[in-house]
Amino acid sequence: MFSKKLKQLTPYTPGEQPQNRKYIKLNTNENPYPPSPEVKKYLDSVDTDTLKLYPDPGSQELRETIGNYFNLSSSMVFTGNGSDEVLSFCFYAFFDKDNGPLLFPEHSYSFYPVYCGFYDIPFKRIPMKSDLSISVDAYTVETDYSGIIFPNPNAPTGTYLETAEIEQFMKKVHSNRVVIIDEAYIDFGGKSAISLIDKFDNLLIVQTLSKSRSLAGLRVGFAMGNEILISALNTVKDSFNSYPLDKLAQNAAKLAIEDIDYFKENSSKIIKTREFTVKALKSMNWEVLPSMANFIFIRKKELSGKIVYETLKNKGLLVRYFGHKGIEDFVRVTIGKRKDMEFFLDLLNTTWGK
Ligand SMILES: *Cc1c(COP(=O)(O)O)cnc(C)c1O
Repeated sequence: MFSKKLKQLTPYTPGEQPQNRKYIKLNTNENPYPPSPEVKKYLDSVDTDTLKLYPDPGSQELRETIGNYFNLSSSMVFTGNGSDEVLSFCFYAFFDKDNGPLLFPEHSYSFYPVYCGFYDIPFKRIPMKSDLSISVDAYTVETDYSGIIFPNPNAPTGTYLETAEIEQFMKKVHSNRVVIIDEAYIDFGGKSAISLIDKFDNLLIVQTLSKSRSLAGLRVGFAMGNEILISALNTVKDSFNSYPLDKLAQNAAKLAIEDIDYFKENSSKIIKTREFTVKALKSMNWEVLPSMANFIFIRKKELSGKIVYETLKNKGLLVRYFGHKGIEDFVRVTIGKRKDMEFFLDLLNTTWGK
């Protein structure tokens, strides 16, 4: 009854979305603020008659909006149903077992190995520095690979590489292998490497509206790069689903990208709350990795990550625990509103003190 391929799949485990009890959710890196009021205005006024028709298969207007925002032609932009789908198309288009393994950081986004399983792509996890930041040198010593992918800032660690470092790195890697930078968290203090796509035809930047534009529920992500790479993604899309973005998502995403002031204001509130939280945690003797994301990766001496996760869950607060070797003492905590972080800090303080 089932295919051989199905038996070989190992699916991704998303962060919990429990429905049984009300938790303070600091576990899936969602934005605590609502999306742009322009999105609400639009969705409140939708003429449902327009849904009789198929949407624009190429999301042309949305791609132009994204292009305008980044100063790119729309032919250098690809849109998809969340950046997870965009990434999945990238894996299909660019990586291949005939060309060697895909390289990614030892501790990184756990969807990457899942796509490798799905598309039968071998992979190699590249060791990180002892401070859990990405070591670019550890990639450039590799000679045989079909491509490279890493998030910047990295997830779940939050550490960040400067554009200058990425440029040096791009000069050293094979120019006939695609490098993908997954910038899901770039808007929380980092600077996009988008300026490098003119210099490197093999560089693809992927972003999402799920985190910094508060639209995880709308499912819109995009990739930017050389037209030849974008056209390869279109070939994959049109061989799989020509209408990945529905009409509402295309229009609402456009409005969200255009509302630059609102987006900047929210991102800077989150950055401020992050700085406040980090300072408080350090004063309570928690170790916090330097983060440029809307989450932090933390641990405390002599406490296991599992205990921290379970204790907080019992008290009504969710954080993300991975339990992978090397990071088993850490939990990842999403930056919520200031009052959520105060509640979180109080819980830590009353449970474990300084
Ligand atoms: C959240 C996240 C994504 C996926 O975002 P969607 O656009 O919601 O699919 C991709 N990469 C990383 C590293 C993420 O954390």
